[in-house]
Amino acid sequence: MPQAIEESPPAPGWPEDGLTLLELVWPIPRGGWLLSWRGRDLTNNRGPLHDALVLAFRFDAYLGSIRCKVQRACGASIRIDDIGRWSSARVDGLMLRRTLSCDVVRVTGATPCSLVDSTTGHESVRALAEEFAVQLEAADLTISDAPKGQGRETLIKRLSLASQWTAEKYGDESKRFAEAYPEAVEILPPDRYGDLVLLPALGCPNSRCSFCAFYKDRRFRMMNDGEFANHLDAVCDFMGESVSARHGIFLGSASALSLSQRLLVSRLVRIGERLGTRKRGVGAFWDPDHCPERTSDEWAVLQEHGLRTAYLGLETGLASLRANLGKSADMERLLTRVRNARDSGLSLGVMVLAGIGGTHEIDAHIEESAAVIDAMELSPKDLVFVSPLVGARDRRPLNEEAVRLHAALAQRTGAKVAPYAADKFHYYS
Ligand code: SF4
Repeated sequence: MPQAIEESPPAPGWPEDGLTLLELVWPIPRGGWLLSWRGRDLTNNRGPLHDALVLAFRFDAYLGSIRCKVQRACGASIRIDDIGRWSSARVDGLMLRRTLSCDVVRVTGATPCSLVDSTTGHESVRALAEEFAVQLEAADLTISDAPKGQGRETLIKRLSLASQWTAEKYGDESKRFAEAYPEAVEILPPDRYGDLVLLPALGCPNSRCSFCAFYKDRRFRMMNDGEFANHLDAVCDFMGESVSARHGIFLGSASALSLSQRLLVSRLVRIGERLGTRKRGVGAFWDPDHCPERTSDEWAVLQEHGLRTAYLGLETGLASLRANLGKSADMERLLTRVRNARDSGLSLGVMVLAGIGGTHEIDAHIEESAAVIDAMELSPKDLVFVSPLVGARDRRPLNEEAVRLHAALAQRTGAKVAPYAADKFHYYS
C-alpha cells in the first residue's frame, strides 16, 4: 500500500493548466523503495494541451529498472521496457499485448483473446512510438524531479529504442524465444500468469486425457544437468532486466513434480542460486498419479528450497468420469497423496472442470467433486479453480453448470474458489 499520496504542484517546465502531479511512495521489503509517479490530466477546458501527452514512469530503485508508459489524451498508449521492446499498447482503439514469443494478441473481454497479424501489430506500435517521440520533442516538456536524473531524456531514449524495433527484429526475438524454450508454454494457473517459466521437464507423464490437446506428440522427459543449465542461461539472457519484474517462478511443463526428489532439489537449488527468492515463490503442476510418492518430510524439503504451491487437475471427483477422461479412478490414493503434501504446509491449487461428461452426469459430477474437495481439507491459503472446458463453450448449460459447481465447491471448502478461463492464457512479455 502507498505510504504517502501527495498532490504536488506542477514541476517546472510543465504547462500549468489542468496538470496534476501525483507522487506515490511504496516502501518495499528488504530496504528498497519503489517510487512511482505520473503526470496526468494534461488537458484544460479548452481541449488538450500539446496533444495531451501524459508521461508515466515506474522507477524501481530496488530492482534498478525503469519501465515507462506514454499515453495520449485520445487513449493511445505504449508500455516499453528498458531496451525498447513494447509489452502492451493501445493503438487505433485496440488494446494489444505482446507475448514473449512475439505474437500480438488483441485483448478483449471475449474468450479466447484473438491473435492479430504480428507484422501489422508490431509496425503500428512502432509508428506510434515514433509519433510520440516527435510530439515529446516538440512539446518541450521537462520532468525536473525524476529520480537519478531520469526524466524526459529517458522517455525520448526509450521511444527512440522502441522505434527501432521493427517487425523483422521481433521475428528474430521470436527465434531467440524458441531457442530458450524448447517447448511452448501452453498453460499456467491464473494466479501464476506473471511468473517466469522454467522447464526442468518437458511434456506430460500422462498425456492420455481425452479433453487435452497439449503434449500429445511428445514424450515426458526431464532435462539433464547440462540441458537445464543451458536453458536457465538462455532464459535469463532472453529476459534481460525484465526478469526482475517476474515475482514468481513456475516449473513446467505438465508435471515438473514428477521428477525424482534428488533431481528436483538440485533444480530448485540451482534456480535459487541464479534468481534468488521471489515473492510468490515457486509453483509447479503436479500429477499425483504419475509422480514419486512423497512423505510430508520430503515435501517440506522441497519447500525449504523455494517450492510454494503445487497445482493439480482433479477435473472431477466422479471416479467413473475421471477414468473416462484418462485419469486414475483411485480417489483414495489421490487423497492420501494430497493430504501428505498439504500436511507439510504446501499450498495447493486444484482445478475442477465444468462441461465434462454427459449432461446426465452433471449432478453426480458436482456432488462428487464437492465431496472430494471437502475431503482434501483445504485451507484459505489454497485455491480451487472452476474451469469451463475449452471447446465446450457453446454447450448451453455450461455457464449454469459452472455456477452450480462453483457454489457447491465454495460450500464445502475453506479454500478460495475462483473461475479459470484457461484459454485466456498467453505467456506475455
Ligand atoms: S495430465 Fe494434464 S497436461 Fe497431461 S494430458 Fe492430462 S490434462 Fe493434459
